[in-house]
Amino acid sequence: MIISSKELLQKAKKDNNIVIQSNVTSASDVKAAVHTSKITGSTLMIALAEAHQKYFSLEEFTGITKFYLEHFGVDAVLHFDHGYSVETIEKALKSGCSSVMIDGSSKSFDDNVMITKEVKKMAKKYGASVESEIGHVGSAGDDKENVYTEVKSAQKFAKLTDTDSLAVSVGTSHGVYNVKKPELQFDLIKELSQSLDVPLVLHGGSGTGFENLLRAKKYGINKLNVYTDLIIASKEGMERSIKDKMYESAVLDAQKAYGNCLKEYIEKLCNR
Ligand SMILES: [Zn+2]
Repeated sequence: MIISSKELLQKAKKDNNIVIQSNVTSASDVKAAVHTSKITGSTLMIALAEAHQKYFSLEEFTGITKFYLEHFGVDAVLHFDHGYSVETIEKALKSGCSSVMIDGSSKSFDDNVMITKEVKKMAKKYGASVESEIGHVGSAGDDKENVYTEVKSAQKFAKLTDTDSLAVSVGTSHGVYNVKKPELQFDLIKELSQSLDVPLVLHGGSGTGFENLLRAKKYGINKLNVYTDLIIASKEGMERSIKDKMYESAVLDAQKAYGNCLKEYIEKLCNR
């Protein structure tokens, strides 16, 4: 069954727990994610990013995920990740996503508030919840892009937008950390978590390390987005087996590797 992210994340905040968001770009990833949710008993947010629709369309994402949720008999949130416009988010809501992210983090504070409020109003009609971002989580390749979240503006933003969850910039980045290791701002996480009622989301979970992530959880992160580590694991899974196996077996090994990597995240970070 498809569920809303609002209650799931509020419960995570109350229980000082983390919900994992598993990003997918193929039917094989979806199968691995839903199967992993089944065997671990952990409810996931399964997500497609706006930028990944060239690999996997919204219709494929929602249709195929619904199929596997029914097949394995598990619940999950269907999330549209990093939506940049009202139009693309409306398409995601129409195709059945129960949760959407509006990423206005590159805009001015006022424009970010305006677009987030508009998305929130629209999502309400579909019974969906909204994640937004304040501060800016950049790419690991260019850590100058990161703009840490300020406590006062986060409070003001949450109040003005009534966002259901809030992505904060506290030292992680998207992608692979080739240049520099992430330096998490634990004091900032703690302060944000104590001064906001809204669940906090950490983007760029890959490559951060479980020790850092467990501390981030302890100080109040309630949702963790994982993508890069999952696709690296899949690629390595495929590379290992493509040399002496048939293509179709290599695809299954890539799927298995995605599942195993996700399982490790769940087992190390989520209370069950
Ligand atoms: Zn992100």
